[in-house]
Amino acid sequence: MRGDAQMSDRLARLIDAGGPISVAHYMAEANAHYYGTRDPLGAAGDFTTAPEISQMFGEMIGLCLAELWVRAGRPADIRYVELGPGRGTLAADALRAMRAAGLQPPVELVETSPVLRHLQAARLPSARWHDDAASLPGHGPLLIVANEFFDALPVRQLVRTGGGWRELMVTHRHGSFQRVPGSPAPVTMEAEEGAILETSPAAVAVVRELARRIAGQGGAAVIIDYGHVRTGLGDTFQAVSAHGYADPWVEPGTRDLTAHVDFQALGQAAAAEGVRLLGPVEQGAWLRALGIEARAAALAMASPERADEIAAARDRLTQPEQMGSLFKVLALAAPGWPDPEGFR
Ligand code: SAH
Repeated sequence: MRGDAQMSDRLARLIDAGGPISVAHYMAEANAHYYGTRDPLGAAGDFTTAPEISQMFGEMIGLCLAELWVRAGRPADIRYVELGPGRGTLAADALRAMRAAGLQPPVELVETSPVLRHLQAARLPSARWHDDAASLPGHGPLLIVANEFFDALPVRQLVRTGGGWRELMVTHRHGSFQRVPGSPAPVTMEAEEGAILETSPAAVAVVRELARRIAGQGGAAVIIDYGHVRTGLGDTFQAVSAHGYADPWVEPGTRDLTAHVDFQALGQAAAAEGVRLLGPVEQGAWLRALGIEARAAALAMASPERADEIAAARDRLTQPEQMGSLFKVLALAAPGWPDPEGFR
């Protein structure tokens, strides 16, 4: 793709001029270019997400949020907010399910990619866009959704060396990038030499902002992503291209760079702002608790010729060896608001 070598060259020049950059800096620059220049989703792209697998995914989320709104006493000034909405598929499916339940909220989307904003506008013509969560409306309850958004936010990596923990920095050589230990990092965790610890200050800042809004304005947030329930050691930094794993240290900007989400870190940051945490639970269990089996049966009844396809999509979203276990769901609820369904 045009301009893709330019990102590699740009990062190499940046390193030549100022010395090694952090892993977070590398990931942020590469992903801004990657998402800013293409639609990465679907069979012809690099990866497929849950809403692109089946309408049932967005519908279950819409039902969950509409039902929460009803139990909260149907506040009139509520809004639907989504972070990193991709093609707008999840929002379109969720809003259709909400409309059936009597809820038609204004739509606020947090998205930086001009290419994806364009696709979102085709499906959600009355939406408003934001560069980040800071400019979201400051009053009225918010129903917030983020699917596979947090895994794309930059992570720092720290490595345990003989001389204590150090931040891993990125340098380059012969057209490929490589990591080298940099300055000492103030971490006290015990670990063997070579162990890697990931943190995402960017993800923590976003979840804090969302939690602060919910605590003050009312509403709830549903965060769905692949990751771990407890903070742990390990290098989860990866690149995905054409539906397979790729080398994250070559051709930055041409492949999706992600890291597993640390739900414990997100939960702690959110709880500190005064919201209630529900989960994380596994995506499969959550979707089943919300009634995906019945929805799949109803869809198959209405389109018998598609019954196999619908059953396969349900399994892909819920089975533990597919997306059911690796993906987790964490909800944040405002004080005084009821609990979103599916977390018991
Ligand atoms: N939620 C969608 C798309 C997931 S891909 C789905 O499930 O299909 C990640 C999304 O987050 C894309 O829309 C991407 O452009 C957006 N994104 C990535 N980094 C971002 C950032 N820093 N700020 C806002 N949006 C971002």
